[in-house]
Amino acid sequence: MASSAPRTTLESAQLFASAREVIPGGVNSTARATWSGWEPYPLFVQSGQGSRVTDADGHTYIDYLLGLGPMILGHRPKRVTQAVVDQIQNVGTVFALPAAAEADLARKIIAAVPSIDMVRLSNTGTEGVLYATRLARAFTGRRKIIRFEGMYHGFSDGVYWSKHPKIETAGSDTRPVPVPQGPGLPKGVEENLVILPWNDIEVLRQVITEHGHEIAAVLTEPMMCNTGCILPLPGYLEAMRELTEKAGILLIFDEVITGFRLGLGGAQQVFGITPDLSIFAKGLGGGFPVAAVGGRRAVMELVSDGTVSLAGTYTANGIAVAAANATLDELAAPGAYEALYAVSDRLRFGLEDIFAKSGLAAHVVGLGPVLQVWFSDRPIHNYRDAERHADQDLFRRWWLGMIERGILFHPGAYENLFVSMAHTDTDIDLTLAAAREVVATLA
Ligand code: PMP
Repeated sequence: MASSAPRTTLESAQLFASAREVIPGGVNSTARATWSGWEPYPLFVQSGQGSRVTDADGHTYIDYLLGLGPMILGHRPKRVTQAVVDQIQNVGTVFALPAAAEADLARKIIAAVPSIDMVRLSNTGTEGVLYATRLARAFTGRRKIIRFEGMYHGFSDGVYWSKHPKIETAGSDTRPVPVPQGPGLPKGVEENLVILPWNDIEVLRQVITEHGHEIAAVLTEPMMCNTGCILPLPGYLEAMRELTEKAGILLIFDEVITGFRLGLGGAQQVFGITPDLSIFAKGLGGGFPVAAVGGRRAVMELVSDGTVSLAGTYTANGIAVAAANATLDELAAPGAYEALYAVSDRLRFGLEDIFAKSGLAAHVVGLGPVLQVWFSDRPIHNYRDAERHADQDLFRRWWLGMIERGILFHPGAYENLFVSMAHTDTDIDLTLAAAREVVATLA
């Protein structure tokens, strides 16, 4: 750990070569692909425990990838693991019948998040967004959704647009045109979308003034976590709330990353904004696939009599519900988030200090257990700032230096570092020691 001795990862290389013969690209999700940063091949995992992950060659890393977010309690959290084992051994997994534990979970979510009167479960964030946008269209009778350049709301046809477009072909800075995330998205879907730059109140105001009557919802991450980490500018979310409310547009917070992570009440609690609908996922399940969509009673009630149909064979399956109930019990323990913030701040402020002293044009952005380093000489407020001003090559060198020293996070500058409740001050100190060495090589 934190040694600069070269790590050979031959086993990962061989496993990757073998997997590629039977799995396209050798992996089962885009974020693990070589072209998402894992050049020349992704690390293959052997196991994880707490804040540590061991790769197929037996090297152990301090893990800030955390499965891209779900492992908020660290790997193999005892309480969640036990709850799932009990469920499998003593109850069962899928019945197509409701179980009492589902309402227990709903009550816990409602108690944690004040904007939520009622809640339905799904399996993934992608499905959750699909539920929320369908509800918003049904409730308002309007068809367009405003979404923001550089955000990610899952891979379904209706929203898999303008995630990371080439800006030369994506229209003007203030009125981007929708760009599909590759071929295969049916033409015409984009007519139901309005793509805007994030953090720009005036553009949002103008579009809502001109087209508000056609817009069902504004869909946004409350903190932008899919183009690195970008905080909302002061007043931005407040203005968004006010503008949407006045125009009868639903405000949907995609809290797939921030939910149950920035606090028990999510980013909406931290920023003090009440959305109409919210989607939670990664922080909710302690590593098991479960998501939740909830919000205002009047909107959610559309599902009650089947006016809006939301379905799924595996939604609220026994494993997901047991895992989420146990995860929320753990997260609700007194002092859990205070401790998480203390450890996370030690990392963020420690990195800030190292970069400030280095003289490098870099800054660390984040809130609590979500952060990222921007290699840029100016602040990054939206996707085009990042495309124009962030030095991706330098980020790559930073990442390589860190992973060689046993510090694991995603190689993409547009992903985040996540801190879990299993990380300790010792983990952070080892990470900062590695960062000092790496930064010295970059300066
Ligand atoms: N919304 C946001 C903000 C996300 O970050 C993600 C996943 N990274 C999703 C939706 C999609 O979630 P899932 O991968 O569970 O489908």
